[in-house]
Amino acid sequence: MQIISKDFKTENAGGGLAQLIIMVVVIGWSFNLAAQDSKYFTVNGRNINVDSLNQEIVKMMDDIGIPGLTFAVIDNNRIVFNEVYGYKNLSKKKKVNNNTIFEACSLSKSFLVFVAHQLVDQGKLDLDRPLYQYLKNKRLEYDPRYKLITARMVLSHCSGIENWGYHNNSNILEILSNPGEKYVYSGEGYNYLAKVIETILNQSFEEYINERIINPMKLRRTYLKYKPKSLNPFHKGSPVNYALGYSSFNDELNKWKNRNPVPSSAINLIAKDYAKLIVSIFNGKYLSIRRTEEILDPVIIANENDSSEFRGVGFALHYCDNDTLISQGGSNSGFKARLLYSATSNCGFVFFTNNERGWAVCSKLNQLTTNFSCSLFDNYGYYWSYYPSLTIDLLKTYRESGSYSMFHEIKMLIKEGRMNINTLNELGDEFSRKDEKISIKLLEKNKALYPQSPSAYWLLGKIYMKIGDYNLALKNLEKAKELNFKERDVEKEIESCKDELHKRHSICSRYIRIIEDKLSVIQAEDYCTMHGIQVENTLDNGGQQNVGWIDMGDWMDYKVNIPSSGTYTLEYRVASISGNGQIQFKIEDNILTTTNIPNTQGWQNWTTVSTTTSLTAGNQIIRLYASGAPFNINWFRLCLSPNNVE
Ligand code: CA
Repeated sequence: MQIISKDFKTENAGGGLAQLIIMVVVIGWSFNLAAQDSKYFTVNGRNINVDSLNQEIVKMMDDIGIPGLTFAVIDNNRIVFNEVYGYKNLSKKKKVNNNTIFEACSLSKSFLVFVAHQLVDQGKLDLDRPLYQYLKNKRLEYDPRYKLITARMVLSHCSGIENWGYHNNSNILEILSNPGEKYVYSGEGYNYLAKVIETILNQSFEEYINERIINPMKLRRTYLKYKPKSLNPFHKGSPVNYALGYSSFNDELNKWKNRNPVPSSAINLIAKDYAKLIVSIFNGKYLSIRRTEEILDPVIIANENDSSEFRGVGFALHYCDNDTLISQGGSNSGFKARLLYSATSNCGFVFFTNNERGWAVCSKLNQLTTNFSCSLFDNYGYYWSYYPSLTIDLLKTYRESGSYSMFHEIKMLIKEGRMNINTLNELGDEFSRKDEKISIKLLEKNKALYPQSPSAYWLLGKIYMKIGDYNLALKNLEKAKELNFKERDVEKEIESCKDELHKRHSICSRYIRIIEDKLSVIQAEDYCTMHGIQVENTLDNGGQQNVGWIDMGDWMDYKVNIPSSGTYTLEYRVASISGNGQIQFKIEDNILTTTNIPNTQGWQNWTTVSTTTSLTAGNQIIRLYASGAPFNINWFRLCLSPNNVE
């Protein structure tokens, strides 16, 4: 058994001896060692057996397919349980340990929330004074409404600022609704407020978070930015013990290695550190009672169809049967996390996972520990299921026995009348990121089973758009609209489908002429048909748009008129952050030449790579096929080599 640590004593000062003894037992418990006696902790008035809790969690992780988890439970504003499970790295079979850091995702925001409220207590920040009076924001200045935006609006996600600036034009931030009027989740809003606080304190975000949170609360494993391991062995702050993120099918995803702090979403930490922060918001040691009361004041309704969820200054507020819960969810690529905490009974829990389906554990973790009674545990999103569910069972079957077994199980469930309305929607959505053919098959099954349910049509519309079949996309989206699909902006997708069909129709109606003695540029975005790619604005010279989001197996087809047979110089304008990109230049099924794409160290750092190919005169359909990915392409050009006319 581990000796109680110094910071643990401080943290629990004032607790009774009996509680301390229980906590010593809990903290000394290690999942890898066989426990001889059953151990317990208390949360929300319930006695929790640690052995059975751990068994249930391990089983749940196996059923959902979650590699790693870090989990902390708070009771009476003390951390009463803190444990880690599973793997941080599946391919190397490396286990999560007490020091393994996970991406906090949007739970990073709680650090800024704490500082903002502390500054209100200190009279340095007024929640209702327009932020521009502290610090102007060039990306918002084009819109006069920006002068209405306050810290209260930013903290409760109703400033109207879009979530991420790079969605459209990265030089400006769109204001999607009038400040203060509507719930619009916004990471950019938080990043702006973090800058405002830098101005108020004349300190960097890193400095003030260290001074006000990390040092006084003794957060031992919280990192604001990713630093590569230093060559200097005495250099502190190199988080090498981090969890990798995984897709729903446990494909390894690229780790976000942010070199600069991103206050809204890029902190890496352990669950215990985050739990300490939450305790410090509510234990009366750091913030006044007025602050904690204000955190519970609803500012804006989160969902107009559900009067039980609001947003307050820093957290979501859920009105449950006998309680008000605050929450913060987090979602980065490969990581999902969530906090739930009752400000009435001062208990709650927080978990961090390294899997896209991580949120599915939330309901069961509540049932096993705090046991809050609340409708928020019924489902999440518009068809996502918490553990246990049929979707989770079917995904497990797929992981263990493949798609044939999964479809057999689906057939049996349908036959027995046990298939829920959203199971195949949820499953179809998962497979849209793995295997479009399976996804389409699942969703078509749901259409046949529940023809009046709009979600399947919507999801099919999105998948057909992704694979470039805009006719089928339009058909499905229009059906979703007819069935009154409300969860997403169906009208907008229908419009973009129509625009795309119109644009491609004009491109496909002619062959692009190559001029014999000149380099002829063909813009990558001027494809006739495609699979899997997306077009985005480019920062390259004169290109307007480039093709991006290219995965292996994606392609674009171009109708090109070749003036004469011979050897042509072929150049590609490309950018990539990986050295895995590769283009095959194909006509029909023939690969004419294969070109490797170099790592240009940035999605918008462009370079030109050159090769040659021999072409036959006449109208040709050229396919650029991604035999390796990812990479971006802005244009390619062809020129007949002067001495090589056949
Ligand atoms: Ca272009």
